[in-house]
Amino acid sequence: MNAMRTPSPYPLPRRGEGEKKHVFNRATEASIKSRKERAVPHQISDECVSCGQCESECPAEAIHEGEGKYVINPEKCTDCGTCVEICPVEAISPI
Ligand code: SF4
Ligand code: SF4
Repeated sequence: MNAMRTPSPYPLPRRGEGEKKHVFNRATEASIKSRKERAVPHQISDECVSCGQCESECPAEAIHEGEGKYVINPEKCTDCGTCVEICPVEAISPI
C-alpha cells in the first residue's frame, strides 16, 4: 500500500525537548526562590512625613499607611529599592 501522508502543519517536538523545558522550569523556580530568600526587606523611619508616594509606587504592594507614618510589610517587600529612590525625606532604608 502506498498511502500519501499529509504533512502536519505543526512542528513535532524533538526528542528530549519536553525534558529540557522541565529542567529549565525547575531551574527558574529555584532561582526565583533563592532571590526571594536573599531579598533584604526595607523599613521606614520616623522621618516619614506620610506623603504616600512610596505606597503608590511599590510594585509588591508592601507599603501601607500606619499610625503616624507609613510602614512596610517585610513579608511582601522584594528589595527592589523603588521606594528608597522616591521618598523625598530619605526615610526608607534596608533593615
Ligand atoms: S523595596 Fe520595593 S518592594 Fe520593598 S517596599 Fe520598597 S518599593 Fe516595595
Ligand atoms: S515616600 Fe517617604 S515620606 Fe512619603 S510616605 Fe513614603 S516613607 Fe513616608
